[in-house]
Amino acid sequence: MLLQPQRLVRAPRAHESREPEGVRRAATPRTFHVWTIGCQMNVAESDAIATALQRRGLTHVPSMDGAELVVLNSCTVRESAEQRVQGTLGNLAHRKREDPDLMVALTGCSVEPDLDAMGQRLPMVDFFFQPGALDHFLGQLEAHEVVAAPGEPFEAASPHGHSSPVSTYVSVMQGCNKFCTYCIVPYRRGREVSRPIAEVVADARMMTRRGVKEITLLGQIIDHYGRDLSPKSHLADLMEAVHEVEGLERLRFMTSHPRDMDDRLIEAIARLPKVVETVHLPVQAGDDVVLRRMRRQYTVERYLGLVEKIRATIPGVAVTTDIIVGFCGETEEQFQGTLALMDAAQFDVVHAACYSPRHGTVSASWDDDVPQEEKEERRRRLERQQEETQARLNARLLDTVQEVLVEDSQSHRQDLPQWRGRTRANKLVFIPRGDEDLTGRTVRACITKTSPWALQGVIDS
Ligand code: SAH
Ligand code: SF4
Repeated sequence: MLLQPQRLVRAPRAHESREPEGVRRAATPRTFHVWTIGCQMNVAESDAIATALQRRGLTHVPSMDGAELVVLNSCTVRESAEQRVQGTLGNLAHRKREDPDLMVALTGCSVEPDLDAMGQRLPMVDFFFQPGALDHFLGQLEAHEVVAAPGEPFEAASPHGHSSPVSTYVSVMQGCNKFCTYCIVPYRRGREVSRPIAEVVADARMMTRRGVKEITLLGQIIDHYGRDLSPKSHLADLMEAVHEVEGLERLRFMTSHPRDMDDRLIEAIARLPKVVETVHLPVQAGDDVVLRRMRRQYTVERYLGLVEKIRATIPGVAVTTDIIVGFCGETEEQFQGTLALMDAAQFDVVHAACYSPRHGTVSASWDDDVPQEEKEERRRRLERQQEETQARLNARLLDTVQEVLVEDSQSHRQDLPQWRGRTRANKLVFIPRGDEDLTGRTVRACITKTSPWALQGVIDS
């Protein structure tokens, strides 16, 4: 499944066929928009794409409608995401009939290895590039004189509004070697490849110089970080190095795998002051038979043992998870195992998804036998239970003082302007707004009100 980046981008067919080689297009794009859905990894990559295009002289516009080059950063992990990508491509095809100079690039997990087949199926797309092949995409744009070579390195403000100017994502590795039976990610993102520590630290320095205070390190199984480097490295080594970056106040990381999160990592989270007390540890299901069919490589007992160790070592830690409901063959009783596991683990947040078969994965050839209405009913039951847990966990924070990193201000409530920030455990906090600009500042807030979803606080003087 290892794909060479140079095979991942196709030349811009539409323009090749319309124009003789080497002749500039009548209209080179001056503006671009990056449309993003999916995981934080996509958000980080979209930031990188936008920064690279800005360096090549293009101007970012906030809406797709006004852009001459549209880059779609797509997701196909679930069917709902795939449908949105298809819908957006349909709109762009329509627009392209009116405006043939519109250029469209598609990246993210929707890009299949067979680019020729994709090209035939999606004629509205000029460029395809798989995740991680940004450099090659840029090379192709330059080769076809769509953009000029980059100017001097410059430090743009965060060009589009996904990651905030205060808190941002840095991808530290690509790919996944696990092949869980339901998951498309390893087929679309290839094998695990870690970035060297020095490169990640350089990114972190550049971001903190722009005013970023919080960085979330990203990898599909971030606990595998550094195994492929020579010499080998460990996520704890990377966190220690990034921890030293001046101006950085908070460091997060995700996603951990229950099979691979080790003591050294847990100890590093507990020891390093800037590493905040959160662990995202997807469990996916609460039944050993289902877990085995998913090829998750752990049992419910082992998972709960790990959560216990994490809680014992890292006081005040927030543990969050992902769960799939209605996987092939999941019985009512097995689903109840998931509810029981949630009860035992007391998660701070659960991202629940109804199972959808993904073409090319192992489980896509199995019987998808839980009816859609049943999947949705299970998800509703799960969410009701989780709402109660979150209400209870958050209520414990009433009258406590929390460190809040202020990210921005809520502008839609004109009557009650508020600051919006997050605690170290990643809880959303709203604070009434005074005259002083608190963006990017860490303040102490006394929590005056809680709900399952957010906290209300006042500055603690
Ligand atoms: N690396 C992470 C997950 C990446 S995919 C891990 O190992 O857990 C993000 C989430 O999408 C998964 O945690 C899972 O809950 C969900 N997901 C993946 N494939 C899915 C599918 N076929 N149907 C429904 N949800 C899926
Ligand atoms: Fe997908 Fe499993 Fe890899 Fe996570 S660990 S990205 S769920 S294959």
